[in-house]
Amino acid sequence: MNAIRNKITANRPCETKGYVFIQIDGLSFKELKHALETDLIPGIGSLLENNYLLYPTLNPLPTNTLNFQFRFLYSPDRIIPGSRWLDRNSGKIVSITRFAHMKRLENRLKMKHDFIRDDGRLFGTLLKGKTPAELRASPIFNHAAVLADTIASVARHPGRSFQPRQLLLLFMERLTRRNLNSLKKAMRVSGASLYYINLMSYDQAGHKLGLGHGVTLHALREIDDQIRTLVRSCRNEGLTPVLFSDHGMAPSIPFKKAFGLSLKEYLYPASGQNDFLMLPSGNMAHVYLNLDGKYRADLAESAARKISSHPGIDPVIQPRHPDGPQVFSGGGTHSFGNHPWEDDHLRNSMNLLAFHPDAGDLILFGAAIDGNAVNFMNQKSCHNGWILGQRESFVIAPSSAALPETDDTARFLRTLASTR
Ligand SMILES: [Zn+2]
Repeated sequence: MNAIRNKITANRPCETKGYVFIQIDGLSFKELKHALETDLIPGIGSLLENNYLLYPTLNPLPTNTLNFQFRFLYSPDRIIPGSRWLDRNSGKIVSITRFAHMKRLENRLKMKHDFIRDDGRLFGTLLKGKTPAELRASPIFNHAAVLADTIASVARHPGRSFQPRQLLLLFMERLTRRNLNSLKKAMRVSGASLYYINLMSYDQAGHKLGLGHGVTLHALREIDDQIRTLVRSCRNEGLTPVLFSDHGMAPSIPFKKAFGLSLKEYLYPASGQNDFLMLPSGNMAHVYLNLDGKYRADLAESAARKISSHPGIDPVIQPRHPDGPQVFSGGGTHSFGNHPWEDDHLRNSMNLLAFHPDAGDLILFGAAIDGNAVNFMNQKSCHNGWILGQRESFVIAPSSAALPETDDTARFLRTLASTR
């Protein structure tokens, strides 16, 4: 243990060439603390013993990776409304797992909100997973293969493909030797001063198997090893690593398993309407009513009251209520600002979501039952909602970095990135 710890030594961030933001996808503040206490992640533990500090931070709704990355890359004041939603302009369903959908959204946003980009070119992609062929022709990075191609092209045309301050955004299920070698090469030749790496394996195992499952804990243990390697590589290149998570996760129970029928089957009689569309995002769901007709606020309100009396749903938001967005909980109504469980951050976050032009006519959140978040999808743990650690994330940064006065993870990292 001591030998390992001694390898990570304190850095002087004021002399840094830039930051490497390392995202542990889906690790809540609570699970991080638990993993530190049980010595599951000694590499991260040793950072904290060597001039790094742990900052608890928060994320707004919906608590998902894409929302975090949109806010980090473009504007913390803008959110995406879920992992699936209805684009009311086109009448089409948008999904964050579809490359074309995200590309359209990203193009729309980047016109108005340049931040990380200095020279008007796109630096990052919000995609994950496989590398579409069209990415190969652009300065976007989401995969080691693209990175390797680009490094080869940089060698052929020095100075053309990269500019200082460029962001490299990388998604990795695991840090393989090949990924690491590509990354090291990029650090050496790119001149980029900001890197963003998403380590996804903990989130993926958590959804599939649950947070306490041996495979999920093993994924976190492995991430700790990968981070130790990354920290060494960063420092060899004069870059400063910063760790964080984009959202937390809650242990979950699927709605259907808890109540015997699917949310859709429940909504059909409960909403009093048959022309509705239900788009679930884990612990949250958008419901669009009266698809063929005109929006009826009174019908939406009676549906919200009825639905919010279900023990598996808490709360229901009716965004387009005549008196402004309303929160329904346990069958009763609360306007924003006087709900008993609200804190400022949650209230602002629910407001932001309610005023999104593509938000559902009703926004449903799964309730907490015996320490589990009711999940509108079939997963062992979930996010997008607000209960049981889904909002609570963290940043682990050098104590000497110029730290922003905010508890919002995306704002925190944006400030760090721009005050180097
Ligand atoms: Zn996830």
